[in-house]
Amino acid sequence: MAETVSEVFNDADADVIFRSSDGVHLHLHKVILSKVSSVFQCMFTLPNVPSPSPGPETAVQVVQVAENAVVLEDLFRLCYPMEHEQIKDLNHLRSVLDAARKYDMTFILKRLQDNLRLVAPSRALRVYCVAYLTKCADVAEYAARLLLGSFKLLLPCNLPHELEELPAMALAQLVIYHETCMSSAEGVLDDDAWMGTAILDPDLGMYEADMVPWVWLTCESCQVADEYEQPDDDDIVGQFVRPRAWWCLYRDAAKTALSFRPNHPTVTETHLMERALRQAARCTTCAPEAASHLLQYSQKAANRIEARISQIKLGLTFSDEE
Ligand SMILES: [Zn+2]
Repeated sequence: MAETVSEVFNDADADVIFRSSDGVHLHLHKVILSKVSSVFQCMFTLPNVPSPSPGPETAVQVVQVAENAVVLEDLFRLCYPMEHEQIKDLNHLRSVLDAARKYDMTFILKRLQDNLRLVAPSRALRVYCVAYLTKCADVAEYAARLLLGSFKLLLPCNLPHELEELPAMALAQLVIYHETCMSSAEGVLDDDAWMGTAILDPDLGMYEADMVPWVWLTCESCQVADEYEQPDDDDIVGQFVRPRAWWCLYRDAAKTALSFRPNHPTVTETHLMERALRQAARCTTCAPEAASHLLQYSQKAANRIEARISQIKLGLTFSDEE
């Protein structure tokens, strides 16, 4: 194999040479590597292993490593005071992450995880896989949250090749998280007591003094939804909250959408309101208010869903054993 010197790391005052798996020599400095890696710090306190080619450079320790030059160069760029670009290729990013973990570079790992997080919005399932395989629990959690808004959770157009090595448990945990978020989100739309009191909140610009309850709770002309025909006389909230049938068309459409995409913006999608608003338009009392009230309600429900989902944790744990 042809031996070459790295174009990035070729300082004459180097006191250690890393020899990559593809035969590239990276001229480095022990003092810098010792600061970023406990593994290297330990390695450099051991007596020098004689260099394989004794000569004028025998004072410089040569370390043969398993990573190729491209991975090492990107890893060491993060250790040295020099420019580095965000890594967009996930195969490459994973290799650099693996190396950083192997050499116990805690601070560098954090920066690589931030890099992985930045890629997540465009490739959430793949980032989840890479994060799981490189034991980045926080990034896996973030990707799982993004996947709540994905139309095809586990069957995207392009299956990430990392799925081939992902443990089944990693996918099971993702599905359980999805289901838990779904029932929590649906619970907001089923929470009649909350709907009855939500209007009082000043952030809608409606204060108690001039309270205007949701029109689907006050209209005298529209029919109450069948399921609310029997109010509980002992329960004040129960008397107050008897949505008219047209509102239930929105709720049912929103719950169906949440079963696929249980993230908070789902309930604000206006197409979910279309059938309900068409029916509301037939009522002279409801028609003028229906759209604005439904939009406000859906935004409020979205905020509540977001708060609930942020409390739900994927809860991945990784053992330190390799
Ligand atoms: Zn009405």
